[in-house]
Amino acid sequence: MQSAGVSPPEPAPISLSAVRQWFRRFWKFSMHELGIAASILESVQAEARRHPEGRITKVGVKIGELSGVDRDALQFGFEVLVKDTEWEPVVLDLEYIPRVQRCSKCAHEFRMTEFDPQCPQCGEFLTHCISGEELDIVYMEVDE
Ligand SMILES: [Zn+2]
Repeated sequence: MQSAGVSPPEPAPISLSAVRQWFRRFWKFSMHELGIAASILESVQAEARRHPEGRITKVGVKIGELSGVDRDALQFGFEVLVKDTEWEPVVLDLEYIPRVQRCSKCAHEFRMTEFDPQCPQCGEFLTHCISGEELDIVYMEVDE
């Protein structure tokens, strides 16, 4: 499975009581994570249609530190969506990707903390973000 960006959600079949449960637990989050969870499920369903002989057991998603996605809310949102459906056995495997900068002068790569982009090796301020913005499906595991 190729890496694919997570696009705006298509409506997925969900149970209303499960959504209410989700709101009670994650009311402080917007619909953002639930929408992303629906979008991931859509991709799983699309992949399943392409491989009717197999059964998808796991979907791996990378979440960058800068993507603004709450990992727990996304995990729980996905569980809510698949609950009591044929997709319930699908496990969502989330990988958190920290923000990493690369120095334009010495090419040193470092973990950016506290919004300080300065290169710790040479002191250069002009550094570029090379990871941390991910929100991608990276793999799906299929039982043949
Ligand atoms: Zn440097």
